[in-house]
Amino acid sequence: MKKTFIFAFLSILISFSVFSSDQQTVFVDNAEIQQYNGFTGKWVLIPNSAKLNDVIKEFGADEETVKRLNPDLKFNSYNFIPFSKEYEKQLSDKGVFRREVISSTQDFLWPLFSISRISSLIGQRWGTFHPGVDLAVVPMTPIVAALDGKVILSRYVDGLGNCVIIEHRNGFITKSGHNAYCLVRVGDYVKKGQIIAFSGNTGRSTGPHLHFEVRLNDIPLDPLDFLPDDEMTADAVNKIQSQRR
Ligand SMILES: [Zn+2]
Repeated sequence: MKKTFIFAFLSILISFSVFSSDQQTVFVDNAEIQQYNGFTGKWVLIPNSAKLNDVIKEFGADEETVKRLNPDLKFNSYNFIPFSKEYEKQLSDKGVFRREVISSTQDFLWPLFSISRISSLIGQRWGTFHPGVDLAVVPMTPIVAALDGKVILSRYVDGLGNCVIIEHRNGFITKSGHNAYCLVRVGDYVKKGQIIAFSGNTGRSTGPHLHFEVRLNDIPLDPLDFLPDDEMTADAVNKIQSQRR
């Protein structure tokens, strides 16, 4: 068992080095501009039909497209409202763009746009094994796919509440739990940086946070080994690591 794992891990390392020259520009969703099924727009919490009409008008959206993108359009829920070209131009005139990230296709992204506090690391906690990191975050914060992949689970599960599992290349999966809403369905292909859920406090959770796991052949690995070590997250990582030492 152990041998297989080491072999699998070595082959992953090899493929990492093969792909590391594979640089590309990735457009990352943000709070104002998001992407869904090839359309640029935004996930909006729509309480009623009056608000729906207001938003459609504001974004200059095409009603037929709104219906097509949200076949089970529900009130008090998030629906994707596409932007008209004119609305997109207004945003870009105001300096609002989707974030551009240059990376290799194998680079993971942090599943949140900003990381302020890591509340738990991988490892033993309260006498059981905690297989991922917990990122404390206010409810309804967008959660993005860490890598391209295919959604293999998107539903309520015991413990992790509303949970999304994405299968990536080379036997990797990522798991995002305790969401308020999941925005993807089993079988969907998602791009790195695409919003897949909104954070919450569902399942066995003692406060609003995102539980995030990286697994290789179903073995939980330390997500911090895969996530970018950038300026934005350095503080949060240093703080939690110094507590552990
Ligand atoms: Zn957790």
